[in-house]
Amino acid sequence: YSRGLNPTVSILSQKLAAMDGAEDCLVFNSGASAIAASVLANVKSGDHIVSVDKPYTWAQKLFNNILPKFNVSTTYVDGRETDNFKNAIQPNTSVIYVESPNSWSFYLQDLEAIAKHVTFLNLSGRQTSIITICDNSYCSPLYQRPIELRIDLSLQSATKYINGHSDVVASVLSGSKKMIKKIFNSELMTL
Ligand SMILES: *Cc1c(COP(=O)(O)O)cnc(C)c1O
Repeated sequence: YSRGLNPTVSILSQKLAAMDGAEDCLVFNSGASAIAASVLANVKSGDHIVSVDKPYTWAQKLFNNILPKFNVSTTYVDGRETDNFKNAIQPNTSVIYVESPNSWSFYLQDLEAIAKHVTFLNLSGRQTSIITICDNSYCSPLYQRPIELRIDLSLQSATKYINGHSDVVASVLSGSKKMIKKIFNSELMTL
């Protein structure tokens, strides 16, 4: 039964994880579903997200229209200054969402500096640990590998450069074995 596991997808995900320099990855049926799954797996009611300003349209719709129904709020920041992320973090912040360069302005974020700050915060005994997620669709792993910059989850729409011809809709979500297993057993299989 192949919704979750099948040999073709397993071989594909091993190759794609290697390209991302990640322990493991999941292949989804669209970029939008990888965005939704990665975020939903890491928030609960009452949580807060810090996102780069003007992310991809359907990430914005998730943050603005769907997550507020479950009492999850989002603050958008100009991602050009790492301090803007630092200053927006609240005690209940559980996700930092970046997209570098981002969809509508093409501004860059300092992924490594953001990840470093989050590691520091997570080690300093916060109640909620923060997960960093990067939509890497514009660079693809050829030009930027967020996992190597210590971002927790890197995703890309495979509809774009990985496929390259707009005749396949798919995506890749890479991260640690532990995180990938958690998302597989919950959001991927359920949604
Ligand atoms: C196209 C795109 C997506 C969504 O990908 P689909 O495969 O169309 O669902 C996500 N993020 C970015 C930056 C994109 O350009």
